[in-house]
Amino acid sequence: MLSTLPTWAIIKIRQQSNVIHCADTPDGQPVTIEQLDATFAARGFSREQRLIGHQQPRLQHIGYHFVVGVNGIVTSGLARRERGPAVVGQKGAALQVCLVGSKQFTLAQWTSLRDLVGSLRHECLGLNVIGHNTLNSKTNCPGFDVAQWLNNSCSPRQKNILEESNDAG
Ligand SMILES: [Zn+2]
Repeated sequence: MLSTLPTWAIIKIRQQSNVIHCADTPDGQPVTIEQLDATFAARGFSREQRLIGHQQPRLQHIGYHFVVGVNGIVTSGLARRERGPAVVGQKGAALQVCLVGSKQFTLAQWTSLRDLVGSLRHECLGLNVIGHNTLNSKTNCPGFDVAQWLNNSCSPRQKNILEESNDAG
């Protein structure tokens, strides 16, 4: 009955994995998606023109599908149908998610990551959520153990939580 499957059902199985990255920027320091776009440009990555469409056309180089800012706001980059730069060890198509920072992230970021990964898993049957450092042991990206985070009900370890500034008090 494959021919009767609605379009969303086909999209549902297209993405095989979801790779979690960090931006490798100072923890807690805001970074815009435009700045990340520039770093991908510097690395020589360009999006495939025919796939960009109306999806963030001003960002010609971004290699992430979603960026989670220090304030927890999720900004989309690549369209689902686009691919980011090849990640060593990655099999098939993958959604690339990036946390701004290096190894300590705000509670707002952790909450957004949990919600984002949760909804992607809901949309994509059997989605394999994996850290960049699990695919490639030569990198520390994303600065924490994704498998452990998943096993811990998507709760971060204390050492990976950025303490909020006490200036307000
Ligand atoms: Zn990475």
